[in-house]
Order: sequence, then structure tokens, then C-alpha cells
Amino acid sequence: MNIEIERVLDPQVDVHFPEEQKIDARLRPTCFKEFVGQEKVIENIKIMVQSAKMRKNPLDHILLSGPPGLGKTSLAMIMAQELGVELHIVSGPSLDKKGDLAALLTNLNKGDVLFIDEIHRMPVTVEEILYAAMEDYRLDILIGQGASAKTMQIEINPFTLIGATTRSGLLTNPLRDRFLAHFHFDFYSAQELGRIINANQGKLGITIESQAIDKMAYCSRGTPRIANRILRRLRDYVLVQSKKTASLEDINHALKLMEVDGCGLDRMDRKILRVIRDFYQGGPIGIEALCATLNEDRTTIEDVYEPFLLKEGLLIRTPRGREISEKAVEHLTKYDY
Ligand code: ADP
Repeated sequence: MNIEIERVLDPQVDVHFPEEQKIDARLRPTCFKEFVGQEKVIENIKIMVQSAKMRKNPLDHILLSGPPGLGKTSLAMIMAQELGVELHIVSGPSLDKKGDLAALLTNLNKGDVLFIDEIHRMPVTVEEILYAAMEDYRLDILIGQGASAKTMQIEINPFTLIGATTRSGLLTNPLRDRFLAHFHFDFYSAQELGRIINANQGKLGITIESQAIDKMAYCSRGTPRIANRILRRLRDYVLVQSKKTASLEDINHALKLMEVDGCGLDRMDRKILRVIRDFYQGGPIGIEALCATLNEDRTTIEDVYEPFLLKEGLLIRTPRGREISEKAVEHLTKYDY
């Protein structure tokens, strides 16, 4: 039997079970006050939300970009909550027919927020429906074919589109131009992640010593979703040990079980660096060849793994491909597993 072990530090969504969804909902910030970090983004968004409420008009269309797990969905939920409107969440790749999007748009009430995750992966033919919808709150539907084809226009309720993307560079220009504001999410500092862990420990019924919180925050790859996932694994670890308080030793044990090293990299991160070191003499190596050797899909490598390795200066992108840095070579020598 082939068992694939869950990648602990994968920042992508992991709530496939009802119980997990409940825990996930408990850990999500529910208002601006609970939303830690991204101060500049929050400051701007608060003003936009306040203005929309005063004007009694829908909030302007907003594009949120940044790596997965940094709070784009959570922020969209908070915006809808503050505006007192309904939030409709849909993922870009799931909208593969024009009719699906048209049905969603015609069912929106005035002021509702439509959140399209991974909007860059929506088919262009479907995306074209959004142009008139975003600009004039109108759907242009083509009926019939050839010379007898006619365009029918349907009015829809004024709404707000919040698009989320891990790759804003892949958005088409006509779509990007229709967003009034574009905000980019940065990785969180260890201090900010520490605040999130601190706030969430009680929700999972455990107490964590402050040194252990610092260590967890440092090993969370700058990503709240990962901080929460490590927190849940630590909760399991201390529960099995019949403890209520987690110490630095406990988190060190838990991280070791998860194969997370002292800098917060996991098995897959180290594998990427090691493949470049061992198979390609440290690089440069083209992304396609790298993905083929790793047997991983290009989007996953580029969206999920690379941003943090680049930010930490372990991986370098050059016009000729990916290289590993001196720092990465030292890291692999120190954490050789
Ligand atoms: P994204 O949409 O960018 O992939 P999410 O909004 O789904 O990320 O965030 C993942 C999880 O991380 C949330 O469930 C929430 O618990 C936590 N989280 C994200 N951002 C923050 C934040 N700024 N403050 C507190 N918790 C956060």
C-alpha cells in the first residue's frame, strides 16, 4: 500500500472534513481587530469599506494577491461581515462554463460580495462575462450562432467582486484593469505569527510556554495557515502525552515528528534544494526540468514552495533558471535528512 504522508507545511487549503472545517472556522479572524498584520492593506480596506457604507453603494472591486494561506479569504469574509452583506465563495477553475458564472451573478443581491479564489485560473471565455458585469452590472449573453446570433443584455444587481490570486502576473489586462484596488499580501513576521498562535492556543484548549510559541512562529514559513496547522499537531502531541501545557521541548519533538527543521523548512523544501544541488550541480536549472525530476506540477512548485525559499534567499531565480545559494548549501549540510 502506498501511503502519501500529508505535507505539514503545505500552505494550501486542508479542510476536507466537517470536523476540520469547524476547527478552521474557530481559528479564523472574524473582524478587523482580530486580523493580525498586513497593516497597510487593512488600513486601506477599512477606509474603502467605511466609504461604501456611507455612500450606501457596493464596495469597489478588489484584487487580493499573495501566496496561499496568508489571509485573503479571511479578509474577504471580514469585509462582507462589516458591510452586512452575503459572501459567495467560488473557485476560478471550477467555473468552466459561462452559464455557471452567469447563474451566480444573476442570483446576487444588491451589494453582495462575490469572492473568486484563484481567479487567474478561470477560463478566458468565462472571464469575458465579468467585464460588463463588473463595469455596468450587466450580462451580455449571446443567443444563437452565426449570422442569426443576437446579444441579449440582462441587468444584474450591483455587487462587489473580490478576486484572489497567487499569481497576479497571470491575470489578463482587461480583467486586472477592472479592479479599482489591488492589494498584495506579504509573508508574516515571526512576531505576528506569535500573536496569532497566542490568540488561538486557548481555542484549542492548550497553553503554550512563550519560548515554545516563539519557536513555532519561527518555523511557520511566514504563513498563518501553517502556524495553525502546527498548533493543531502540537495540540495532538500534548494531548497524547496527557499534558495541558506545551513546552519548548514538546514543540521540538512535534516539529521533529513533522520533519520540520530549525529554519521551518519541511521535507519537500529540502528535497527541492537537494535535487538542484545533487542533480544539477547547484543550478541554474530550468523550471520544467526541475519539476520533471521532482515529479511535481509546475504551478505547485511556483505558487506553493518557491515563494518562501526565494524570500529566505535559499533559492535564486535567474534568466537561465533556478540556482541554490551558499546559504542553502550550508542549510542542507546542517539538516541532512
Ligand atoms: P488564503 O485565502 O490567503 O489562502 P485564508 O484566509 O484561508 O488564506 O487563511 C488561512 C488561515 O490562516 C485562516 O483560516 C486563519 O485561521 C489564518 N489566518 C490568515 N490570516 C490571518 C490573520 N491575519 N490573522 C489571524 N489569522 C489568520
